[in-house]
Amino acid sequence: MPAALANINGQTMPLIDVKVSALDRGFLFGDGVYEVLRVYCGKPWMEPEHFDRLIRSLALIRIGGVDVDRLRRRMHKTIAAGGFGDCVVYMQVTRGAVYPRRHAFPADAAPTELLWVEDYDDTKTAQQRQVGVSVISQPDLRWQRCGIKSTNLLANVLANQAAAEAGAAEAILYLPDGTLTEASHSSFFWVTHGNLCTTPHDANILPGITRIEVLRLTERAGVTVRECFLKRDDVAAVAEFFLTGTTSEVLPVTRIDGRPVANGHPGPVTRKLQAAHAEAVAEFLR
Ligand code: PLP
Repeated sequence: MPAALANINGQTMPLIDVKVSALDRGFLFGDGVYEVLRVYCGKPWMEPEHFDRLIRSLALIRIGGVDVDRLRRRMHKTIAAGGFGDCVVYMQVTRGAVYPRRHAFPADAAPTELLWVEDYDDTKTAQQRQVGVSVISQPDLRWQRCGIKSTNLLANVLANQAAAEAGAAEAILYLPDGTLTEASHSSFFWVTHGNLCTTPHDANILPGITRIEVLRLTERAGVTVRECFLKRDDVAAVAEFFLTGTTSEVLPVTRIDGRPVANGHPGPVTRKLQAAHAEAVAEFLR
């Protein structure tokens, strides 16, 4: 497996050699945003959507002065330089490093622009896509600006750790009134009374790129979809449930909080959308 290759502020080097200042506001405050892209056979998937979301995240936290097209060129250069095929790109922009440490935006910080490319081994997730995974529910302890893909992920980390300790693949998150929002690093869909549903975009949900893709695929798969909310208490009645994400793609959930979803096997709508996704990727690579 080739080593992960990075580009930091325009300089290409092995990821392991990248050094960032201890004064970087990403390190001190989590004052930054990020993106993760899946690359199939050297070609970044849903690239325009990921860069649009990056531009939105940067604008929402008011990081200026980032040449996003240059960042995109650096990404392609790094993929080509490492000869990567099936890989993942991690990209992060912080407000930069400035002394002294102050909460308010510094006048003179230059953003830190980091990306790296690493091989992606899909074997384990591919198997999970076949048989399904378990999830647990956890309180959504995040803030009111979840539409920003911020590097501040502590609440997500804690929820995901709780899932790992419970032997589950993901944590689905609920608000104090029991409304489910999304998962710690995934969006989700469910099927109830024959309808495919997903939570609408609001302040509590990151606009997942795979979620956008699945919404597009529903047409191809002949499935109707609506946006609505699901309460934690109503999960027991759903016929199907699946997660979506850049690397998980369309991942069936077969147990929630230890109870099987319907008969405990991935359902037909999930299978149709998995097939539609595979077809869309194959078309993209043709
Ligand atoms: N929701 C959250 C909180 C996430 O962190 C992620 C991905 O990291 C997603 C949803 C899925 O987004 P995407 O499909 O763009 O990977």
